[in-house]
Amino acid sequence: MSGPTVPFLDLVAQFDDLREEWLGAIQCTGAAGTFVLGPNVTQFEREFAAYTGTSRAVALANGTDALVLSLRALNIGPGDEVITTPYTFFASAEAVNVVGATPVFVDIESSSFNLNPARIEAAVTNRTRALLPVHLFGHPADMARMQSTADAHGLDIIEDCAQACGAEWGGEKVGSLGIAGTFSFYPTKILGCYGDGGMVTTNDADLETRLRKLRNHGAVEPFIHDEIAYNSRLDEIQAALLRIKLATVEQAIQARRQIAKLYTERFAGTDVLTPAQPAGGRHVFNLFTIRVPGRDRVKRRLADARIGFSVCYPQPLHLQPVYRDLGYKRGALPESELAAAECISLPIFPGMREAQVARVCEVVTKAIAG
Ligand SMILES: *Cc1c(COP(=O)(O)O)cnc(C)c1O
Repeated sequence: MSGPTVPFLDLVAQFDDLREEWLGAIQCTGAAGTFVLGPNVTQFEREFAAYTGTSRAVALANGTDALVLSLRALNIGPGDEVITTPYTFFASAEAVNVVGATPVFVDIESSSFNLNPARIEAAVTNRTRALLPVHLFGHPADMARMQSTADAHGLDIIEDCAQACGAEWGGEKVGSLGIAGTFSFYPTKILGCYGDGGMVTTNDADLETRLRKLRNHGAVEPFIHDEIAYNSRLDEIQAALLRIKLATVEQAIQARRQIAKLYTERFAGTDVLTPAQPAGGRHVFNLFTIRVPGRDRVKRRLADARIGFSVCYPQPLHLQPVYRDLGYKRGALPESELAAAECISLPIFPGMREAQVARVCEVVTKAIAG
């Protein structure tokens, strides 16, 4: 059998679509002569806050810093615990350690792959300071139930929105539901730039002020510093490119949702478990992650057919070598361990053709059959 090869995602095609606008933005930035934290960054912060339905946004160097600086801005540090999911990209938990606090892992719901709100309560201790849900793969986490647990214990919620730009819960955009929403503009994300970039959204004026200071060496005025902080700034070229892409991000999300629909229709009636649609929310499909029996054979067949794929994520965080000292045993968080054993992420990107979707489905379905 043969058919079109399919990349995991096609960033070159995306560049070609916007070539003239990109190049214009780069030229303007060069001519203006301001390269870091200039007018494009300020405008992009305003536009991104408006897009997420928040009153403030602070641009940073990447999505990991967005987490680290949010935790720092909330004065979370040594001795504190932050409850998060073990089934995510490492940065979600790493940020907690970077500020000196300890991540506490709570198992996921099998259907959404997100932190199971019903299990959070049992993990709360008198050291718990915050909940750090991740809207994984673009599926919004159950914020209503999370919020009631947070309220009952006086905890902050920091939303890791790195994979979920534009996702909605209860009619609201993610990033507007907790005290802070953190975003990444890494090229593979829904809103990706041509390098690294990040953002924190918030409605809290004090948090915004603290973040602006933390991103710039803790300076209270030029060359006067009252704390040890970071250099975490977005540059003008990335901000100019992101402003262009933000204007069409809704189309990009619609394209992803349409491809997800095609996949779901074609896999209906097979042994492939396709992503759940959130009740009361909007999934934005940064990744299209399925569960399959016999994943190793599926991987081999996809590779043979020159179809891109990714195993997101093969090792849950509570079993990572670096967290050995936290003392979690295999079997401790079974839904996360099962997801890590069964899941595979298939190609999805704006511009992906229906024939490519059909080809991926054909190869996966045949691999499962034997
Ligand atoms: C990508 C990602 C991050 C980190 O973002 P960077 O911009 O790469 O630092 C954090 N959390 C999750 C869930 C991510 O997918």
